[in-house]
Amino acid sequence: MTTTMDPDPLVRRMRPFGTTIFAEMSALAVRTGAVNLGQGFPDTDGPAEMLAAAVDALRGGQNQYPPGPGIPALRAAVAAHQRRFWDLEYDPDGEVLVTAGATEAIAAAILGLCEPGDEVVCFEPYYDSYAASIALAGAVRRPVTLRPTDNGRYAFDPAELRAAFGPRTRLVLLNSPHNPTGKVFDAAELALIAELCQEYDTYAVTDEVYEHLVFTDADSGHVPLAGLPGMWERTLRVSSAGKTFSCTGWKIGWASGPARLVAATMRVKQFLTFVNGAPLQPAVAVALALPDSYYDGYRADLQTRRDQLVGGLTEAGFGVLSPEGTYFVTADITALGGRDGMEFCRALPERCGVVAVPTQVFYDDAEAGRRLVRFAFCKRPEVLAEAVTRLRALT
Ligand SMILES: *Cc1c(COP(=O)(O)O)cnc(C)c1O
Repeated sequence: MTTTMDPDPLVRRMRPFGTTIFAEMSALAVRTGAVNLGQGFPDTDGPAEMLAAAVDALRGGQNQYPPGPGIPALRAAVAAHQRRFWDLEYDPDGEVLVTAGATEAIAAAILGLCEPGDEVVCFEPYYDSYAASIALAGAVRRPVTLRPTDNGRYAFDPAELRAAFGPRTRLVLLNSPHNPTGKVFDAAELALIAELCQEYDTYAVTDEVYEHLVFTDADSGHVPLAGLPGMWERTLRVSSAGKTFSCTGWKIGWASGPARLVAATMRVKQFLTFVNGAPLQPAVAVALALPDSYYDGYRADLQTRRDQLVGGLTEAGFGVLSPEGTYFVTADITALGGRDGMEFCRALPERCGVVAVPTQVFYDDAEAGRRLVRFAFCKRPEVLAEAVTRLRALT
């Protein structure tokens, strides 16, 4: 009898993807009692109306499989939200798909659109699921590097972006506002991406989970790529309730786009999870329809917390790259004598009782992120204050 007891049965294409850095750093936080600014989840609940709607749905019997594309009320709310904020039109029947978070929407889109060997242009550092989803599809990632510039912002070299496109490019995967850098892509950058997508006749998949977290002092507001001339028909727009409504554990996301892109994504999605979150879907529909005061208050709140942490990190001696959006701030450790972010983050809990994440893990070109670390500020003000007090001990 032959045995299949391979010591490592994992398929080769997934082997480069170890356990995530978050697991290691969160374990370190627990072991040392450190303040965990590593992982990007809020430590407070989302809007009360949304939570109440979820309880009602749960008690009201909405506990069986919802329709494959999502419940009609949520699809209608997703379409209405995009019209209201971004002036984008989607038909709730056929142009909107509810998914298990933005993560599933992105994975299903890549698996549904890319043949093995197709190329995906994306900006590094990138959200950790991108490289794994591209690898699962047998596709090839073509990273374009975002680098800190003298004005404290991140930028890419337009020539590098142009060079990343070629005959095998199937799609560009764009995340703006961008995790982990906090960068908001501006009009000129988006115009170049749009131009290249059209020149090479590629699709775009946009991860816009931080669409409501562009701070008021950013150079540019949030501009969806799908709104640029010639882009609606080739763009699948992805977002999610997790960040906007502080419910990252709910995993209710959505994809919107032309029917053929949504259909391709749905074909894969139906065999990944089929459906998810029946009682949470009506609650997210309620949340999306909340008045502007909710969205404005949410952004103002996070902006205050950003300022609190940016101030504290600056005082502690970090070279802070102040973010224009998202939950995160990145900082250079050189002035603190740090040469390697991984080493620095592994030592930080013992040194001062704070956990951060080395940005290099989000790069293919680890050198480009060697001296950068990421802190999350989506935490209660007293938690941030405690972290800042501890970080001051570094100098
Ligand atoms: C949090 C996050 C996601 C995941 O969203 P879910 O809805 O939880 O799947 C995707 N992309 C980025 C950039 C994120 O920060």
